[in-house]
Order: sequence, then C-alpha cells, then structure tokens
Amino acid sequence: LSEKLQNVFKNLRSKGRLTEDDVKAALREVKMALLEADVNFRVVKQFTKSVQERAIGQDVMNGLNPGQMVIKIVNEEMTKLMGSETTEIDFKPSNELTIIMMVGLQGAGKTTTTAKIAGKLKSKGKKVLLAACDVYRPAAIEQLKINGEKQGVEVFAMGNKNKPADIAKAAVNHAISNGNNVLIIDTAGRLHIDEEMMDELVEIKNSVDVHRTLLVVDSMTGQDAVNVAGTFDEKVGVDGVILTKLDGDTRGGAALSIRAVTGKPILFVGMGEKLSDLEQFYPDRMTSRILGMGDVLTMIEKAQETIDENKAKELERKMKQNEFDFEMYLESMSQMRKMGGLSSILGMLPGLGMGSKLPDFDSDEAEKNMARIEAIIYSMTPEERRNPKVMNPSRKNRIAKGAGVNISEVNKLIKQFEQMKKMMKQMPGMFGGGKRGKKGL
Ligand code: GDP
Ligand code: MG
Repeated sequence: LSEKLQNVFKNLRSKGRLTEDDVKAALREVKMALLEADVNFRVVKQFTKSVQERAIGQDVMNGLNPGQMVIKIVNEEMTKLMGSETTEIDFKPSNELTIIMMVGLQGAGKTTTTAKIAGKLKSKGKKVLLAACDVYRPAAIEQLKINGEKQGVEVFAMGNKNKPADIAKAAVNHAISNGNNVLIIDTAGRLHIDEEMMDELVEIKNSVDVHRTLLVVDSMTGQDAVNVAGTFDEKVGVDGVILTKLDGDTRGGAALSIRAVTGKPILFVGMGEKLSDLEQFYPDRMTSRILGMGDVLTMIEKAQETIDENKAKELERKMKQNEFDFEMYLESMSQMRKMGGLSSILGMLPGLGMGSKLPDFDSDEAEKNMARIEAIIYSMTPEERRNPKVMNPSRKNRIAKGAGVNISEVNKLIKQFEQMKKMMKQMPGMFGGGKRGKKGL
C-alpha cells in the first residue's frame, strides 16, 4: 500500500521555484517545436519572452515537476495566444436577416465551407439561403448548387452576367421575401491578393448590410495564410477566420500566428473535403496538438483541477511533523481518485500509455484494495481517524462490521499505517524539502 501512496507523495516532492535554467531548457524545446510548426518568427520570439518572464521565479505547483510546470505555463500562454475561448458566429435577432460574407483566395475552401456552415446552421434551426456571387469560375455556381442541395439548403444564383454586388442585393430581397434569417454570400477569390478582388468585395459590403465577414484560409500555406489575413482585414475588414485543410496540416503554425498577428478569432477549422468535416475551433485542443504532448497536458490539467494546493501543503506539513493520520490517508486517496484512479494515471505516463501496465503492479487490484481501505476508514469515528491509538478490540470490531470486512483486515490496515508512520520518521527528508534533481521535459 505504501507503494501506492507514494504515487501521491511523489507529486508533493517537487517543490520550490522555477530557476532560470529550468525555464530556459524547457523553452528551447518549445521554441524548436514552434519554428518547426511554421509559426511566425516574431510571434515565437514574443511568445517565448512572455513565457520566460512569467515562469522564472514562479512556484512549482504541487503535483508537477519543473518541466511540467513550464509546460503548464506554455500551454496557458499558447491557448491565450489563440484566443482562449471558442468564438461563435453571432447572429442578429432571429426575425432579422443575418448576412455573412465569405472571402478568401481561390482554392482556400470558401465554397465548400459555405455549404459546411449552412449545414451546421440549418441543424441549429436557422433558415439559411446561400448566394452564388463567384461569377468568374464557370463551375463555381454549379458547385455551390450541388453542395447546397446536399445540405438541403436553397441556393440563390443569377448566372454570371451580373455584378456580384447586384446578385447580393437580389439575394437579400429573395431571402427577406422567403423568410430566411441567414444569408451566406459565397464570393470569388483570386490566386493572389488582387486589387480587383478587394474592390469587388468592398462593393458587396457597401451594397448590402453584411453583418459578419469571414475569411477562409488554407492552413497548409502556413505563414502565407497570416499575410493574406492581414491584407484582407486591411482592405475589406474581417471579423473571423476559418482555417481549412487542417486535416493535411500537421504543424498548426497558421493557427497560432493568425490570431496573434491579426487579432481575429478563428471560428471553425476544416478537417476534410466532406461537408460534415467542419469543427468548432478549440484553442486548448489546438495547443495540445501543436505541443504534441496531449497526454502530459491532460495530466497537468487533472493535477491542476483536482489537487487543492492548500490541502496538499497541509498534508506535507503534517507528514513532516509526523502528524499523519487516517483523515489524511483518506484525503490522499480521494485526491488520487479525483485524478482518475491509478490505472488512468498509469496510462497517461509516457511510455505506459494504451492501457499497458507496470509489470509488478495490478492496478485493478490496487483500486479494489483502495475502495476497501476507504470503507474501513469511513467506518471510523473522527476521533479514531485522528488518533488511531484509541482503537481497542471492540472499536475494531465495530469498524469491521461497518465496513463489511473481516476484523483481521482492520488490524492489518492499522498495522501498515503504524509502519508507514515509523518509516516516515526514519526518513524525515523524504517528503518535501529535498534537493530537486534537474529534469527535462
Ligand atoms: P474556393 O475556391 O475558396 O471556393 O475553394 P473550394 O471550396 O472550391 O475548395 C477548394 C478545394 O479544397 C476543394 O477541392 C475542396 O474539396 C478542398 N477543401 C476545402 N476545405 C477542405 C478541408 O478542410 N480539407 C480538405 N482536405 N480539403 C478541403
Ligand atoms: Mg469557390
């Protein structure tokens, strides 16, 4: 049992403050990862600087080692960089028409995404109309019609003889008389930034009351996507960004830089060619994808969520003063449980993932034992928990009955508990206060 409890104690052992060396070593790795992910160099520089400033001298949280503490800060700052919270399209009151204009370079995924969003909004009860305002590519109107049909959403088109702004105006009238409350305008892109394209978009904006302008960018283009976003925002004005083809982009550089450079939130990410492949953008998920440390991050998150730092400090203090009692025993077990139980903690440790088990450790068995022990301790009175010495045979008998176990198990637990206390006394430096070794990430 003490072996199992040590898992909890281990979390308490890493103490102290983050030194400059800790932070710099950890940040070197992070910096490399960011540059490999094609994140804008200035963003990387600014980012690592701010992490460093925040991290050096900071207390290492109970439950984490210094490397993990740095990851924790990096994780938070990175999520912040991408906007922290998910951003959704906002609509006008449902009796009014919300007009959304899609802009972006040719091939970025505007037409596909228009249909994807239409499907999402339809399932939320919106009455959506799509307007085909790409009059340059012959197949563009047809493409929107086909996709709209697949989604069960009406498409308004006037061929390619009219100006996009006029088509947009006609689409608004159609939407109003038709009782639609959302109109999404699909526009034409160009291969590169182009004055004509920008003018055309501005003209549409001046002709109809566009509520939100959404920029569609191809995430595979990395830093180019960021430059494109900057120019579109400057010329046309952009409210939010949709990153497409993230299914083919393993780096996430565009995701990280766009928000930091342009200040525009990412609303959705395209994850494939199918019309259902559009997901809400979650900055925290993107962070763990970019850091490539999903498991470690999950562990940090859990430690953070569940370990009440004050309780942990109190526990540590008491252990040092050898005041450890059954109350605390219970507390440490419940902390372990809150972290997801032994087996899930073991599963998250690097190299042990995928349900593999330590060779000499049956975690199912251990968890069953834990439950029995908890039952025994719950059957004790508060006084008995705090001062196990008062437990005489009749008390032990009562406890055993209450917990539904044999009295020998109660005896065994008390004996192990006394042994553990003795062990702690012999090794006063073992818990907390010990010198911390250097650890990598
Ligand atoms: P537009 O010129 O901006 O309207 O771009 P399209 O909507 O025509 O899309 C261009 C190509 O990108 C098409 O072949 C789409 O199927 C593809 N595409 C769009 N979004 C995604 C995505 O999220 N993932 C993948 N793999 N392909 C996408
Ligand atoms: Mg198109």
